[in-house]
Amino acid sequence: MFWDEGVETISRRELEKLQGERLRESVARAAQSPFYKKRFAEAGLAPERIKGLADLSRIPFTTKDDLRISYPYGMLAVPLREVVRMHASSGTTGTPTVIYHTAADIDGWAGLCARSIVAAGVGPDDVFQNMMSYGLFTGGLGLHYGAEKVGCLTIPAGPGNTARQIKFMQDFGTTAVHMTPSYALHVADCVREAGIDPAGLTLRVAFFGAEPYSAGTARKLEAMFGLTAINSYGLSEMNGPGVAFECSERTGMHLWEDHYIMEVVDPRTGGPAAEGEVGELVLTTLQRTAMPVLRYRTRDLTRVIPGEPCPCGRTHRRIDRIMGRTDDMLIIRGVNVFPSQVEHVLMGLPEVGNNYQIVLDRVGHLDRMTIRVELYGKLFHGELRELRDIQRKIEEALRAQLVLTPKVELVEPGTLPASMGKAVRVIDNRQAEDE
Ligand code: AMP
Ligand code: ZN
Repeated sequence: MFWDEGVETISRRELEKLQGERLRESVARAAQSPFYKKRFAEAGLAPERIKGLADLSRIPFTTKDDLRISYPYGMLAVPLREVVRMHASSGTTGTPTVIYHTAADIDGWAGLCARSIVAAGVGPDDVFQNMMSYGLFTGGLGLHYGAEKVGCLTIPAGPGNTARQIKFMQDFGTTAVHMTPSYALHVADCVREAGIDPAGLTLRVAFFGAEPYSAGTARKLEAMFGLTAINSYGLSEMNGPGVAFECSERTGMHLWEDHYIMEVVDPRTGGPAAEGEVGELVLTTLQRTAMPVLRYRTRDLTRVIPGEPCPCGRTHRRIDRIMGRTDDMLIIRGVNVFPSQVEHVLMGLPEVGNNYQIVLDRVGHLDRMTIRVELYGKLFHGELRELRDIQRKIEEALRAQLVLTPKVELVEPGTLPASMGKAVRVIDNRQAEDE
């Protein structure tokens, strides 16, 4: 099933031609904004010199800081009267980064979301409960518009009030959901607590995104709810959800290359990563009018999946699940650790429940990593000896993967703070202890 078969199955040659033309247009539009006007002038680059894909690397990168310093209107490329909506990124500190859309931009974005939803096997017969936050965050409204375009009965539930979410699922026969994977784990706990078998619900497909999570978490959620987990990737700077999405083959996320040019670069040098190698994803908008963004450093680490095209027939290349961010890498006693590695280990252990937290402290001059792990169900009230064995087993598994030995603290299910949106998994007390 396709939403826009012609575009989704376009030949690579045609696609690249289209990208070249659209890049030229996008650069010309960007040059209307105060930010890019200045940026091009500083780089001594006349926008007309960008004639096609081969010139892409001449364009300087755009970073999140560039968006910050352009606050509030510096990146706007059209008169304000043409703008119909703004969103802002969930950045935790300082000035937010704002993204503007014309009516055509919103429609283009909704089309990408519709295409993604259909590729995942969801259609007009589905009841879609959208449990992502509505508001400045793009997760809620983004997929909402796409789902309405597709013709799903769309329930704008938003996150939170988990008892009501479960009631909705039961009463309306919800078949498709969209939420963060960490919230899904919490919902699973609540469903069980209410004495309901999660697999007895009518959920068929779940779109999980907005935060990094491991394949283990996806499989765990699939087994619990009896559904198909679809990985959904996006970021507000590039609209939000609908940038890259798994199709029902689930062999990686198709990145919609008629709307975005993707590059994977070495985060240190900015040069291209070798084919199929992990690097930082860099994206250029091709169709946005209010606020084109060129060569945006996402800080997300992934790779292009090499080899045969996807059996679904879509020609747009696929990216692997996000392996971490260039800025969330932890350096613990000199060892590089990504929170996703910890999660990968934990979610592979049947004793581990649905929530965990990484706490970093500095004791003397040494870093200490403590991993607080919620145990599965009633295990916590078992024998002390049994608990020690589990603790040791988790420590061993972590040591094998991380090349350092964290301390594992077992906690009762439900004691770690539950997340509704993006989970906060890492608590780094090291700076504070240094001061
Ligand atoms: P925001 O702009 O606030 O929506 O945040 C976007 C960021 O969320 C991305 O740059 C990623 O770091 C993260 N993210 C979104 N979707 C996924 C996903 N499917 N897997 C991992 N990380 C994701
Ligand atoms: Zn596919």
